[in-house]
Amino acid sequence: MARPCVLLKYGELMLKGRNRNRFEKRLHEALQHAMDGASAPVRISQRTGVVVVSGAPLSELVERAHRVIGINVVQPAWSTGHSVDDTVATVSQALRERYGSPEQAGARRFAVRARRRDKNFPMGSDQLAAFVGARVVEEWGWPVDLTNPEVEITIEVDHREVFVSLEKQRGQGGLPVGSSGRALVLLSGGYDSPVAAYRAMRRGLRCDFVHFTGAPLTGPSSTYKAYALVRELDRFQGDSRLHVIPIGNAQRSLATAGAGDLQIIAQRRLMVRTAEALARELGAQALVVGDSLGQVSSQTLANMATVEQATSLPLLRPLVAWDKDEIIAEARRIGTAEISKLPDEDCCSLLSPPRVATRTTPTQLESVERRMDLDELVPKLLADVQVHVPRAE
Ligand code: ATP
Ligand code: MG
Repeated sequence: MARPCVLLKYGELMLKGRNRNRFEKRLHEALQHAMDGASAPVRISQRTGVVVVSGAPLSELVERAHRVIGINVVQPAWSTGHSVDDTVATVSQALRERYGSPEQAGARRFAVRARRRDKNFPMGSDQLAAFVGARVVEEWGWPVDLTNPEVEITIEVDHREVFVSLEKQRGQGGLPVGSSGRALVLLSGGYDSPVAAYRAMRRGLRCDFVHFTGAPLTGPSSTYKAYALVRELDRFQGDSRLHVIPIGNAQRSLATAGAGDLQIIAQRRLMVRTAEALARELGAQALVVGDSLGQVSSQTLANMATVEQATSLPLLRPLVAWDKDEIIAEARRIGTAEISKLPDEDCCSLLSPPRVATRTTPTQLESVERRMDLDELVPKLLADVQVHVPRAE
């Protein structure tokens, strides 16, 4: 009689009026995307402050719900009839499924928490919790412990049904993808930029991706990596696009122009300029990079300032204060680490000087850049862009 489902909850803080509608719409799209391709059709039903999903096997629903940015709590549950009797029977059934019989379970400290979204239910929340608790004591002989229970039985009275659950899992959290706008991520093959992209998505930015290759001076290995990374990140948003732009020749021109120990920073500025032009075409309102302060010599504060000066879009650095080991741990958690660790021919190591200047100024860079025709170069680079649509499985 009771049927399995999963309750999904999101932070309601600060959500009012139009914001709330937009937030819920984005969340719904993300949820739909995460449930696409499930082994059975999934029903998604929006209630007040909670979304209920059902239809596919529970483990699959739970696994998919965990991908959804904006969901704070993933709560496997039973949906049962809108009555006290059904609730008691379902609690008993849920406990038996998890713990077997009272003999097998032994003594477990437990608590019942009840809340009502339907205020017309015949019992109040406290009364319902006490009533169900008494039946559990009767059947299982367990001691009640409201402060530090081993088993927490949650009962949520909705308008047409009652939900019973024994566990709450932490979801991805954050704000639904798209609810904060769009950004273009500069994606290399390393650990940092995919994690930066994920953190940007977590704050509600829908992300497009651009990867610069050293072609024609380097092979396609970095593009394969970027492709695989975007496919992994696509699980969190759907419809991700990867733009690949070869800059090998432009890198060589910078070297010929005598960039010397400014070569890396000059390349970074060129990437940012080209990314800005692409972002404007795509309607993205910010650029995202994986810089972490002081991680490598190209990421000193002075160099960050020099790079940033080349764009008028906000240049977001979600990882600016992260340590490398924190970044790698996060990369493992979100599934990009295995790809990032593969070897590739990175365009940045190409033509890289023996020593990288750590205290550059925009003026120094401008004097190198004057020897090149940037107004012509950027549109030319953009004309060579290749667009891929890597899809998550
Ligand atoms: P990552 O681990 O992301 O490769 P990193 O530690 O290697 O970063 P850098 O190579 O200095 O650091 O790059 C800093 C940032 O510049 C990257 O995080 C990325 O956002 C951007 N970037 C660097 N190289 C490329 C590239 N080939 N294509 C696109 N973006 C790049
Ligand atoms: Mg790199």
